[in-house]
Amino acid sequence: MSKTTNYRHYIASDKWRNSPARLAELAASKDRCRLCFEKGTAAAPLEAHHATYERIGDEAIGDLTALCHRCHVEVTSMLRRRRYQRRRPRRADVLRLRDTRHSFIDPTRH
Ligand SMILES: [Zn+2]
Repeated sequence: MSKTTNYRHYIASDKWRNSPARLAELAASKDRCRLCFEKGTAAAPLEAHHATYERIGDEAIGDLTALCHRCHVEVTSMLRRRRYQRRRPRRADVLRLRDTRHSFIDPTRH
């Protein structure tokens, strides 16, 4: 199983739903998003964002942050952008792009 599949399984599991760290964070936030203070509802429950994946499956209380879905999406894409920003362009990437032996477009396909 891939890392992503494992993660998806875990997030859908009872173990995650009943995680003491997750329940403690939701209670500590008084069921409000930590960023926009929107209250979680049955239709749009709060989500627990992993500030660290160090203890995934056995999270400690500070590992999670209660967020509404909208803020969670924002935070996740912001972190992803930041990660890509940190990634230095490598010479090999450019050389691969310039290498005309491998065409990205297959002229025989329509
Ligand atoms: Zn929010």
